[in-house]
Amino acid sequence: LNQEALSCKINGTSIADCARMQVNELIVFLESIEDPAAATIVDTCITRLQQLLLVGIGYLTMDRETATLSGGESQRIKMVRQLGSSLTDLTYIFDEPSIGLHPHDVHNMNRLLLQLRDKGNTVIIVEHDPDVIRIADHIIDMGPRAGLAGGTIVYEGNWEGLRHADTLTGKCLRQRARLKSEVREPTGWLHIRDATLHNLKQVSVSIPTGVLTAVTGVAGSGKSTLINQVLPGVYPEAVIINQDMIQASSRSNLATFTGIFDDIRKLFAGENRVGPSLFSFNAKGACPECNGSGTITMDLAFMDSLVSVCEACQGRRFHDDVLQYHLRGSSISDVLAMTTDEALDFFHGARHPGRASAHSAGRTGLLDARSALKHAVGRRAAAGETGGRARSFR
Ligand SMILES: [Zn+2]
Repeated sequence: LNQEALSCKINGTSIADCARMQVNELIVFLESIEDPAAATIVDTCITRLQQLLLVGIGYLTMDRETATLSGGESQRIKMVRQLGSSLTDLTYIFDEPSIGLHPHDVHNMNRLLLQLRDKGNTVIIVEHDPDVIRIADHIIDMGPRAGLAGGTIVYEGNWEGLRHADTLTGKCLRQRARLKSEVREPTGWLHIRDATLHNLKQVSVSIPTGVLTAVTGVAGSGKSTLINQVLPGVYPEAVIINQDMIQASSRSNLATFTGIFDDIRKLFAGENRVGPSLFSFNAKGACPECNGSGTITMDLAFMDSLVSVCEACQGRRFHDDVLQYHLRGSSISDVLAMTTDEALDFFHGARHPGRASAHSAGRTGLLDARSALKHAVGRRAAAGETGGRARSFR
């Protein structure tokens, strides 16, 4: 902004000063404006800002670039934007709006979802959190389980009916959480002293080692700053398992990343009395046309390069000879095409140390071990990563 714009002030504050304020600070400033000529504009602004406060993002500054917002923050800002719209009779779809929210913030977000409905709209929410599900007028429960064992409607009706339904969701809702009578003794402590990053106010805290510790608090209270930023600074050896994309080569898949593939190759080698490297698409077993990548990349000058499935192996990544070797009727390519649940059934009985690690990822849905990890979304990626870590520490 130029000097002329910046020299315009209300109660000593310029528009640039306002842009640097957090939602809650700006509300305080706007409330200090008493000029009756501005009353209508001020009221509209405050209403909108209070909605941002309600959905737990009052800590954001006005000039925060939208591209740097987290998924949950963007979703809630979009929701507030729609609340301001005068259109009605629209159908809105929300994908797990409660993700990452404290129960207090979930309650506030529920109020906004109901407001959106009451304006004359249809609101559809895909959700796990019972506190969100219970505000619904109509509930559709899908299952009965994940992946191949899912795909049907197991319950339709209201909240009361769901609580008595003979479905996994119904059973979970009836289960009362049991309190622990004995907790594990710590083996030591991780110390943080006088942390002041972002909103932290000289925080000193000791975190017990050898036990499981939960860090909680409302959105924006400083949990992530303290644990994801300050703690690794003091203890750089900490292993961070987050929902970022897995940084692995384009050749890695779930089986190689979790280390299970080494065991699978040994089983095939033992069964067929050949070397295990034959069953690697990174070594002897690779399709000669695509060198084991399963795809052919054509470099087109001045245009995006063209990626197509390899015709020689049809994307299976292996040399034809390799696929003639079988383990209980399946080739190595068949095994990689299995979901983790299917693979668990297939290897049941065979000694296979890695299988438990990836299984929790398989529970959340179909995970084709053949597909590259770049297709796995955040939560699945984090689950796969936990599996890989659990195994390497074995
Ligand atoms: Zn090929």
